[in-house]
Amino acid sequence: MAHLFVSDVHLDASAPAATAQFLGFLGREARDAQSLYILGDLFEAWVGDDDADEDKARVCAGLKALSDSGVPCFAMHGNRDFLLGAGFSERSGCRLLTDPVIAGFEGEEVLLTHGDALCTDDHSYQELRTIVRDGTWQQRYLSLPLARRELLANEVRAGSRSHTARTVPYIMDVNAAAVTAAFRATGVRRMIHGHTHRPGIHELQVDGAAAQRIVLGAWYEQGSYLSYQDGHFRLHELPR
Ligand code: MN
Repeated sequence: MAHLFVSDVHLDASAPAATAQFLGFLGREARDAQSLYILGDLFEAWVGDDDADEDKARVCAGLKALSDSGVPCFAMHGNRDFLLGAGFSERSGCRLLTDPVIAGFEGEEVLLTHGDALCTDDHSYQELRTIVRDGTWQQRYLSLPLARRELLANEVRAGSRSHTARTVPYIMDVNAAAVTAAFRATGVRRMIHGHTHRPGIHELQVDGAAAQRIVLGAWYEQGSYLSYQDGHFRLHELPR
């Protein structure tokens, strides 16, 4: 049985095909898995656990059915859905992971992170991240009425789209020194992250030792997941 990893599913009411595909993945590939790890940005936006969106409710129910069937499900915050809270956890059966976290697979330690914290060349994004990850800011935001929160989230998404459009691509990729620092700080030699939407398996050297950085793919045009079985990590594409 395999451990499965996904990130950047970016589920949103405007893309019902992606929601249908992800629900299919939960019912097929993930059903026989040993565990499922969602490393951030499962949803395009999450304005609070009282979000009553029907598609999101179906995704939560799909995850709950999977975890109830005996597949442990874990979810990490991404930069879009960093407000996933105890209510989401209860509805979906997903245990929330801190970012970063070290998890053990068949005796090997792997660093799991969404990946946005590694994109240190994007200074304006890192400034925004510091603000919205602050507990006081989050409490103030969550105390606003739902409709107001949705309006603000749409404004932030529009801002993010125009930022992405006018920022050179390398700035939105991980910074090599930040990657090395994360390996050094944790002592592990393998990390899995998403966020950059550049799926791939990168071999590198850290202080003379071999290290590996695995990047998960986004679900905008197709499905994408990573499996770990019998000591092998493999990236898979799911045509839509
Ligand atoms: Mn992201």
